[in-house]
Amino acid sequence: MNKPIGIIGGGQLGRMLALAGYRMGYKFLFLDAKPDACAGQVGELIVADYHDQRALAEMAGRCRVLTYDFENVAVAELRNIESQIAIQPPLGALAAAQDRAREKEIFQQLGISTVPYRLVDTRADLEAAVTALGLPLVVKVRRLGYDGKGQFRVLRSEDVEAAWKALGKQALIAEKFIEFDRELSIIAVRGQNGDKRSYPLSVNFHDNGILASTVAPAPQVSDAVCKRATQWSGALLDHFGYVGVLALELFQVGDELLANEFAPRVHNSGHWTMDGADTCQFENHLRAITGLPLGSTRAQGYTAMVNWIGKMPSPAGVLQCDTIRWHEYGKTVRPGRKVGHLNLRANDYTSLQQQLGQFIEGLADAFSQTI
Ligand code: AMP
Repeated sequence: MNKPIGIIGGGQLGRMLALAGYRMGYKFLFLDAKPDACAGQVGELIVADYHDQRALAEMAGRCRVLTYDFENVAVAELRNIESQIAIQPPLGALAAAQDRAREKEIFQQLGISTVPYRLVDTRADLEAAVTALGLPLVVKVRRLGYDGKGQFRVLRSEDVEAAWKALGKQALIAEKFIEFDRELSIIAVRGQNGDKRSYPLSVNFHDNGILASTVAPAPQVSDAVCKRATQWSGALLDHFGYVGVLALELFQVGDELLANEFAPRVHNSGHWTMDGADTCQFENHLRAITGLPLGSTRAQGYTAMVNWIGKMPSPAGVLQCDTIRWHEYGKTVRPGRKVGHLNLRANDYTSLQQQLGQFIEGLADAFSQTI
């Protein structure tokens, strides 16, 4: 019972899982290829490649359950230790999320609407996708893409050549470029007994393919949209016999929803739950994988989450607004790197907007004091 929870990946998500878990009496053991992985500041860290079978065997021998904090971990090597230790969320979900083609197939199988797409293995396939889907379209690598990396927008037929040059050595998928109204996501969780809960939908704002901010609950979500998102995330959870937290990213066009992708893990668009929900996503993930009852996913008022990407203002400046909660990951600041976030909570949406407005005005000052 005293064995730690093992987490493959020692980034900020692993770190926040551990911070939520210590309160519950859990200990943590991380595996990460980088010796300065930020979760190593809050738990024991084994430094080894994710494919290192010996390191994975050590994790299996020492831990009570294994989970992971990012998608690009090695499924084949994890399958080799699956008979020794429970790995949650299940590897079937992880394998599907690693391959955009498989992910889309599963969406379709479960009746979840997707963006129109074509699989692309050759230059001729790409030309055929342009003819079938029309322009503009987005070409994406099928595997190992994240935060908008491994993507190329084809706006005119002249761009086909450049897209093929940039990405053509790998299996690709071409998607119709959707002029969506907004991006939504739903964080859902399933326990070992099959109990399912989901948080209210959030609306997400991206900058260069990276999540910049989230507001939750998303305003003006119709009952139909809410019901569909809940049903789709629930169908995914049941399909995989899932245990843990899952995030489903959606495009909203009018009253229509299209699934973009799912992540078999705690998710950046769920960070608002740390200060804006009865139980945060990290605690609910831990409850699920350790067989405990799930906690309430009710939102407390409205919360805005703002990521710090590649720069960190001074907390003393930002915290002039006394309803802001500060989260810093202990990472070295580098361009494009997520290094922290804040949550700003208000009782209603109008006062959230007012407080956000004041906060953004004050932000220039906070950045001028950047440390
Ligand atoms: P992804 O890695 O698939 O999550 O894509 C990163 C971001 O690129 C998304 O959050 C969207 O803002 C944008 N994007 C991806 N696919 C499409 C698409 N088919 N149409 C329009 N925008 C897209």
